Parts: sequence; structure tokens; C-alpha cells
Amino acid sequence: MATLRSLLHESALPPLEARMLWQHVLGVSRAWLIAHDDQVIDPEKVQVYRALEARRLAGEPMAYILGVREFMGHEFQVTPDVLIPRPETELLVEMAVELLSGCADADVLDLGTGSGAIAVSIALACPQARVVATDVSAGALEVARYNARALGAAVEFHQGSWYEALPGGKVFDLIVSNPPYIPMDDPHLVQGDLRFEPPAALTDGHDGLDAYREIVAGAPARLKSGASLYVEHGWNQAQAVCTLLRQAGFRSVHSLPDLAGILRISGGHL
Ligand code: GLN
Repeated sequence: MATLRSLLHESALPPLEARMLWQHVLGVSRAWLIAHDDQVIDPEKVQVYRALEARRLAGEPMAYILGVREFMGHEFQVTPDVLIPRPETELLVEMAVELLSGCADADVLDLGTGSGAIAVSIALACPQARVVATDVSAGALEVARYNARALGAAVEFHQGSWYEALPGGKVFDLIVSNPPYIPMDDPHLVQGDLRFEPPAALTDGHDGLDAYREIVAGAPARLKSGASLYVEHGWNQAQAVCTLLRQAGFRSVHSLPDLAGILRISGGHL
């Protein structure tokens, strides 16, 4: 019978990941794990741990193994049906929340909501806003609906491609989106975590700009006058996205850098 300390010591994973998996397997907090490392662990638990460890060693993202990822301080359920929410996307939520502050009952739309990370976080930060979210994937919407319910956020979900999912005539004060933007020939798609994420959430199967073409072209019909559109994009797409926005009649078009100094979000208003 092995102690937790010896099992942690002999794990092939980095110590932080080994501790996270043990927390998950034993259903205990980080503090408990640290305080009880002399605990003798049941062989069945060791087997469960070994199975998860093997998945991690094969490269599967930690978020899919644990089934959760923290975003904007909330714990979101994630499954292989959804993109794992990224820290850089928090910038888009912060931008949206800032725009909505002082704006009573604004109508907000999140296109391609995936896990619901953006829509749910906005709804929680701005309870006065009416948040609508769409996704083409039924599997993703199931996860997004679960997250909205579990976190107590009022979000209206519709299934369909971009604006197609929406009830006719519905217009918004703010549209946000973090669409698939990786060009199909980008080698990163077959490396690391991305290998495990849904291809439709990552790439348009083309040059990485197709989603922006559709989102920007359809936006004027779905925005109230003076309303805004902000999107997240790849490290080298700010210029192309800003050009699309200007061509569609958006004003005050600008981009914002993420914490690494990369222009990550672009938007403007009508
Ligand atoms: N909107 C979701 C997120 O930012 C999903 C994005 C996507 O699947 N491309 O996490």
C-alpha cells in the first residue's frame, strides 16, 4: 500500500499536474492534499489515477481530463465538444462589461458560444443585460446550457450558424465573438492541446478569416444604431479584421493588445 507522498513522488507528470489529478481522484482540496500526504491510498484509487495519468501523458489537455476550466473566476464544464476557454478571451469579456456598464438592459449577442464562457461571464457580470448566444453545434450548446444553469446565469441559447439561429428582427447593442480563426494550413492544428479540441471550433477550413467575413457582413442588420461589435482574433489578423469592419461601415475601429502585447481584439461601432 502506497502513501500519497510516494505516489506523488513517483508520478511521471509535473508535480502540479500530479497534484491536480490526485485532488480530482480523491475529491479533495489542494490544502487537504498537502496536509495529508502520509495518507495510504486504496489500490482502486491508484488505478483510477494511473488511467488519468496515461491520458495526460498521451497529450490530452488537463481541462478535458478534469472536465472543468476556470474562466473569469467561474468554473466552466468542458467536454471535447467545446473549445477550452483561454485566458486571452477574458479580455473580450472585460471589454464587453466595460462597454455595458451604465447601460441599462442592453441586448448582447455572443456568436459561436462554445462552452458559453463569454456569454455566461457577461451575464453574471451584467445581470441587467439580456444575453443571447448561438452555436451551430448541438453538443456545444448542451455544455453551454449546463454552464449557464450551474452558474446561475440567464442566457438565451439558439442553435444555428452565426445569425441564422436568431429570431427574425432581433437587434443588439453589442455583438461579441471568439470564432474559429486558425488557418487550415497552420501546423499548430496538429500539435499540442489543439489536436484534442473540436476542429470546427478552431479553424474555418480556409484562411482563418471566413468567420469574420460572415460575422462582420451580417452585423449591421443585427445591430441597433450606434451599437458595437468586438471579436477576438489570431496574433496576425488585427489588420485584416479591422479592414473588414471599416468596409462594413464600422467607425472608431481599433484593436486591443492582450497581456502578451499581441493585438487580440478588434471592434468598432456603427
Ligand atoms: N466562445 C467560446 C470561447 O471563447 C468558444 C470559441 C470557439 O469555439 N471558437 O471559449
